[in-house]
Amino acid sequence: MDLNGLKIRVIGAGIGGLTAALVLRERGADVTVLEQAEAITEVGAGLQVSPNGMAVLRALGLEAALQVRAVRGQAVELRDYARGRLVSRLNLGALGDDAPYYFVHRFDLIDILAEAVRAAGVKIRLLQKVETVVPGDVPRVVLAHGQEVSVDLVIGADGLHSKLRPVLNGTVAPFFTRQVAWRATVPNTVGHGPVAKVHMGPRRHVVSYPLRGGEMVNIVAVQERSGWHEEGWHIADDPANLRGCFSDFEGETKALLANVETVRKWGLFRHPVAPIWHKGHSALLGDAAHPTLPFMAQGAVMAMEDAWVLGDALAKADDIEAGLAAYQMRRQGRVRRVVDTASKNARRYHLSAPPVRMAAHLGLTIASTLAPKAMMGHFDWIYRYDVTKDS
Ligand SMILES: Cc1cc2nc3c(=O)[nH]c(=O)nc-3n(C[C@H](O)[C@H](O)[C@H](O)COP(=O)(O)OP(=O)(O)OC[C@H]3O[C@@H](n4cnc5c(N)ncnc54)[C@H](O)[C@@H]3O)c2cc1C
Repeated sequence: MDLNGLKIRVIGAGIGGLTAALVLRERGADVTVLEQAEAITEVGAGLQVSPNGMAVLRALGLEAALQVRAVRGQAVELRDYARGRLVSRLNLGALGDDAPYYFVHRFDLIDILAEAVRAAGVKIRLLQKVETVVPGDVPRVVLAHGQEVSVDLVIGADGLHSKLRPVLNGTVAPFFTRQVAWRATVPNTVGHGPVAKVHMGPRRHVVSYPLRGGEMVNIVAVQERSGWHEEGWHIADDPANLRGCFSDFEGETKALLANVETVRKWGLFRHPVAPIWHKGHSALLGDAAHPTLPFMAQGAVMAMEDAWVLGDALAKADDIEAGLAAYQMRRQGRVRRVVDTASKNARRYHLSAPPVRMAAHLGLTIASTLAPKAMMGHFDWIYRYDVTKDS
C-alpha cells in the first residue's frame, strides 16, 4: 500500500520509536512522535550495536554517523573475577569485515536518530504523555492532559511501561529474576581496549566496554539476590553499595569501580513476549512488545529490526491491518528466540560451586582455543541476520 500522507503517531522517542518514525517517513507517511519527556536526552550508559542492528542503520544511511561516535569492538572476553585471567575470547572480527560490532553511548545513537528524523520532516512533540490508546480503524490517542487525537495508525514504542500493551494484551505480572543490575560510566583510566569484558564471579558478573573513542568505559554489574522488587532504569544508588557487592573482584574491575561517582540500579524482570502486537490500526514495537534481559545486548537492536519490518510489511500489504499482521508474523518468532537466549545467558556467567566453575571455564577455554569460529558461529543467527534483505 502507498504510505504517502498516512497520518501516523508514534508514541515514544526512544531508539525504537525514532527508528520507526524514520522508516515510515522515508516511505512517505506523515509522522509525529509523541514523547512524554521534556527533552530527548539519555542518562549516561552504553549500548552494544551488533551487525544486525548496523544493517538497519546502514539501510537508513546512518552508518557513517555512528562510526564517528562509536568504538568498533574487536572481541568479547570472558574473564575470571579474581585475577582477571582470560577464560575465553570470541573474536568479533570473525563475523566478517562487512559485519561490524560497535560500542556506542546511548545519547549518541538517540542524537543521530533524532537529527535524521527531524531532517526527514518528522515532528517530535515533547511533554506529550499518552494516557491510553483506543484502537480501531481510526485509533484515538488520549493524552494525560485530556486532549485526544484521531489518526490513521498508532505505533506504541513506549517501552517497558507501555500504555498500549495492556490495551491489546491485558496486564501480566512480570517474573522477578532475583538479579539486580547497576550501570555506570567512568573515565577510561585503565587503558581498556576495544573489547567487551565479562568478569565472571560466583553469582555475579561485571561487563565493561569502552565508549567515545575509548575515553570512557561503560559498566554493567549484575548480582543474584532475593527481595528486590523495583523495576526501572533510573533509580539512583550509592556507589559504595556497588563497590561493596563486588569487593572481591580484583584488578581492572576494582580500579573501574573505584571511579564510579553516579550509579543506577534496577531489578531485572522477565516479561513474556506480548502475544498480540496489533489491533485495528495500532501496533506495538520494541520493548513495548518484548522487553528483554540485557544478557544478549539485543533490546535496542531488536527494536530497530522491528521498525524496518514494520515499514516494509505495511508497504507490501494491501491495507494497514494486513500489514500489521504480516509485521507481527515476521518478527515474533525471532524476537522470542532472542529473548529466551538472553534469559538463559545469565546463569552461564554465575556458577558458584568451585568444581563446576572450573569445569565450565575449562570447557570454554578449550572451545575457544580449538574451535573459535564454531563458538562464534553459535550467534550467527542473531548477528549475521540482515533484516533489510529479508522480505
Ligand atoms: C543496562 C541495560 C543495558 C542494555 N544494553 C543494551 C545493548 O547493549 N544493546 C541493545 O541492543 N540493547 C540494550 N539494552 C536494551 C535497550 O536499551 C532497550 O531494549 C531499548 O532501549 C528499547 O527501546 P524502545 O525504544 O523500545 O524503548 P525505550 O528506550 O524505553 O523508549 C521508550 C520511550 O517512550 C517514552 N514513553 C514512555 N511512556 C510514554 C507515554 N505514556 N507517553 C509518551 N512517551 C512515553 C519514554 O520516555 C521513552 O523515550 C539494554 C538495557 C539495559 C537496561
